[in-house]
Amino acid sequence: MLVNVITMFPGFFDGLLGVSIVSRAVQDGALDVELIDLREYGLGRHRKLDDAPFGGGPGMVMMIEPLAEALKPLAGTHRVVFLPAGAPMTQNTLDGWSQLDEITFICGRYEGIDQRVIDHFTDEQVSLGDFVLAGGEVAAAAAIEGIARLLPGVVGNPESTEKESFRDGLLEEPVYTRPSEFEGWEVPEVLLSGNHGAIEAWRKKQRLERTGKVRPDLLKDAEKSDT
Ligand code: SAM
Repeated sequence: MLVNVITMFPGFFDGLLGVSIVSRAVQDGALDVELIDLREYGLGRHRKLDDAPFGGGPGMVMMIEPLAEALKPLAGTHRVVFLPAGAPMTQNTLDGWSQLDEITFICGRYEGIDQRVIDHFTDEQVSLGDFVLAGGEVAAAAAIEGIARLLPGVVGNPESTEKESFRDGLLEEPVYTRPSEFEGWEVPEVLLSGNHGAIEAWRKKQRLERTGKVRPDLLKDAEKSDT
């Protein structure tokens, strides 16, 4: 899969591409990340990318011309712009994206992006969450890592990505490893019982309880999709 990233800060992705799963996915040929430096499309001698907002107001706005030029060769790809004013990025979003051969991520900066870019040069507007970052790079990095682990062969045991939080609309149950007791804190006895039926029942109950406590909204969604 090819991920194109339009960014003013290509160096931001050095760490992401150099370690762990993403690095392995790139080395194995499952993933290719093409970093497109928006500055190269800037206007004039100073490679200008932003201008003051029409109507006044704080901050600067990313201009349409550099983005239009950078996006021209990527017109046939699925173009995603990261914005606080986008739809939330979920596991479903990443599942869908991981099925594509190519995708383009657009990282905003400054006060925002000229709306005409969003209206005419993007296919999807996505938010990382209900908070405001300084740029779209963190969202693009999160998406790349989330996609990489879904690509065939990247995660050793495919069950790892099939049995995890959000797969059945629930959060994952707590997990434990050795030692079975640490400073008096014991692992739930059922996990040491070898009784697979009882372990599975315990896990399901934990998933339901945890989701109800931490993310009741997910339970409501799961109930809605059951009806
Ligand atoms: N003025 C904008 C607003 O109130 O919605 C925020 C602009 S933010 C400082 C600059 C850029 O960071 C945005 O254009 C977007 O690309 C990115 N960004 C910030 N928060 C984000 C979020 N929660 N999800 C995705 N991208 C985000």
